[in-house]
Amino acid sequence: MSDGIAGSVLVFNAGSSSLKYQLVHPESGEVTAEGIAERIGDHGGSITHSQGGLEVTEQIELPDHTAAIRRVMELFADGGIDLAAAGLSAVGHRVVHGGRSFFRPTLITTEVISEIDRISTLAPLHNPANLTGIQAARELLPDVPSVAVFDTAFFHSLPEAAATYAIDRGVAKLHAIRRYGFHGTSHEYVSGKVPGLLGKPAGEVNQIVLHLGNGASASAIAGGAPIDTSMGMTPLEGLVMGTRSGDIDPGAVLHLHRVVKLGADQIDTLLNKNSGLKGLCGDNDFRSVTEKLAAGDASAKLAYDVYIHRLRRYIGAYMIELGRVDAITFTAGVGENATTVRADSLAGLENYGIVIDPDRNAVRSRQPRKISTDDSTVAVFVVPTNEELAIAQQAAEVVAA
Ligand code: AMP
Repeated sequence: MSDGIAGSVLVFNAGSSSLKYQLVHPESGEVTAEGIAERIGDHGGSITHSQGGLEVTEQIELPDHTAAIRRVMELFADGGIDLAAAGLSAVGHRVVHGGRSFFRPTLITTEVISEIDRISTLAPLHNPANLTGIQAARELLPDVPSVAVFDTAFFHSLPEAAATYAIDRGVAKLHAIRRYGFHGTSHEYVSGKVPGLLGKPAGEVNQIVLHLGNGASASAIAGGAPIDTSMGMTPLEGLVMGTRSGDIDPGAVLHLHRVVKLGADQIDTLLNKNSGLKGLCGDNDFRSVTEKLAAGDASAKLAYDVYIHRLRRYIGAYMIELGRVDAITFTAGVGENATTVRADSLAGLENYGIVIDPDRNAVRSRQPRKISTDDSTVAVFVVPTNEELAIAQQAAEVVAA
C-alpha cells in the first residue's frame, strides 16, 4: 500500500495544543489519510484518524507534539503505511508568521528554525507551536525534507502604503510593526483559480477574495499581486470573526487597560477568544448563529448585522482601491456554505455591476462555481479553498527545485 503514495506530502498544521495533518499527493490532490490530535500537553488528549474510509478516535495522553506525531505514525502503520519508508517527497508545515524574513516556501534547516524562533515575538501563540511540530517531524522522519509554508508570504509584496501603520516610523521599524497579512496560502490558492474561471490571463484580472471561516480576511489582488488585505500585524485586524473582534479603536484597548484595569493577557483573551460572533451573541459557529437568527434571537441579529456591515465596508474599500473589479470570490466554511452571507454582503450593488443570481447562489457544491448573473459585469464566484493541497504543492516544488 505504501507504494501508491510515493511522492505524497505529509502536511502538518501544529497549534499550541493541537496537530492537524493530512497525507496528500501534490499532483492528484488525492488524500490518503488525515486527522487531528487534540489536547496535546494537557490531560484528556485524543486523536481522530481517517484512512481508507475508516475513521477512528482514540483517547490517549499526549504530553507533547513528538508523542502525538509518534502515535500518528503508528496509526498510519496500522493502516499499512510506513511513513518513514513510503517515499514521501516532503513534510509541509504551515507556519503562521514569516515576518520580513520569509516570503516564499522555505526548506527547513537549523538556521531557518532559529529565524522562525527569533520572529516568534510577532506571533507568540502560533510560531512556537508551529516549531514544535517542525522539530518533532524532523526527529521522527529525519530522511524526509521539511518545508515551511508561511501564512504571511503571499502578502509580502503589499505596497508600502497598504503595509504601513501611521505611527512613529522609528518605533515601527525597531519593533517590526507593520501590516503582514495572513491566510496567504488560501488567498493565493483561491485567487489563482479565478483567471481560469474567467478565461482571462492572471495578469489581467482584478479581484477581491473573501476568506470567511472561523478566522476571516479579505484581499484585493491586481493582476496576481495583492495590493491590500484586512489582517495586519497579527490575524486580529479586519473582519468580524468567530471569536476575534477584527477592527477596533486602539483607544478602546487603552481604556480597557487604564480604566477597566485589564492586563495584556486578559485583553488578548477578550479580543482573540471572546469577541467576534461569540462576543456578540455567545456562539462562534456560524451555523448556530444562523439558527438563533432564524428563531428571532436579537443578539444573533446584531452579530449578523455587524458581520455583514464590516464585510461590506471592506468590499467597498477594495472596489475603490482596485478601480475595476473583474471578480469577487467567497471561500472557507462560511463563504462556501452561507448563501445568505453571500447575498447580503453584495445586496443592492447593481449600480456597481454586481448582481447575484439567487438560483445559482442556492446551489450546494464542492466545485468552483459562478453565482452572479451572466449580465453582472463583476463575476461572483464560490471557490472552495484547500490550504493543505496548496501547502503540499508548494512544499513539493521547493524539494524538486
Ligand atoms: P473554516 O474555518 O473554514 O473551517 O470555517 C468554519 C466556519 O464555517 C464555522 O463558523 C462554521 O459554522 C461555518 N460553516 C460551515 N458549514 C456551514 C454551513 N453549512 N452554513 C453556514 N456556516 C457554515
